[in-house]
Amino acid sequence: MKARIVPAGSKWNNFHTHTYRCRHAEGDIEDFAKRAAELNMDIIGFSEHAYLPGDENPFHLSLSEVPEYTEACRAADGQYGGVKVLCGVECDYDPSDEAFFREFYLDKMGMDYLVGSVHELKDGRDILDCFSNRHFGLEELKIYTGLYIKLIESRLFTFCAHPDLFGRPIEIGADPSGWDANAESAAKEIIEAAAANSSVLEINVSGAWKTATKGYPAIIYPRREFWEIASDYDIPVILNTDAHSLERLDAFADYGMDLIREYGLRRVELGCDRL
Ligand SMILES: [Zn+2]
Ligand SMILES: [Zn+2]
Repeated sequence: MKARIVPAGSKWNNFHTHTYRCRHAEGDIEDFAKRAAELNMDIIGFSEHAYLPGDENPFHLSLSEVPEYTEACRAADGQYGGVKVLCGVECDYDPSDEAFFREFYLDKMGMDYLVGSVHELKDGRDILDCFSNRHFGLEELKIYTGLYIKLIESRLFTFCAHPDLFGRPIEIGADPSGWDANAESAAKEIIEAAAANSSVLEINVSGAWKTATKGYPAIIYPRREFWEIASDYDIPVILNTDAHSLERLDAFADYGMDLIREYGLRRVELGCDRL
């Protein structure tokens, strides 16, 4: 693995970026690298949705698209205003895929980093989409928390994406804000696992963008309640926009920086020995 965690400087850079290849984002690698140069960034990291073994999800890379994606990242490196380009993938975590993630993406494709995510809950009978706001009750919260802790404990991922995704206003309790005692203990379990494994947790401000764009009554994520608990621990955090378009490359980054300052969190970024 070539990317490493470095203390953040005064500048902010984005390491969670999607391209047209996942079929629900716009823009290609060179477009984002040019935009990053305009925004005075030093480095940009791509984290396209990874192909998983047996995967037929049209919103992920297909297996045959992975080499071209990797080559496009390499070709853009340093070509636009000197912006460095890192190549990674965002992996929907499943314990049975750990060897594939390591051997295919890191060893064979030589990618710089892996991002770990829980977007779906696989309980053997059903796949519950965390983003749909449907069927997410206490049982699902427990499945999410267990899966997310395993993701952390695998120590495979350079950073762990949107850990507070479960806290969006969902049916986890009577509180219409979607945050209750169950959410509080789920947050503590995840944060304690991250502290025990020296993991980097991501503050993902795409939820703030979605809230503003779609008119939700409250910011769905990042959840302030979650990061307030995290401030009691020495957990490194990385701030990303999860950009799915050029306009979103820096959208709500200021909001995330304010949150980091407010809770006194320790911000890190990715660096690379190759660079
Ligand atoms: Zn994600
Ligand atoms: Zn993403």
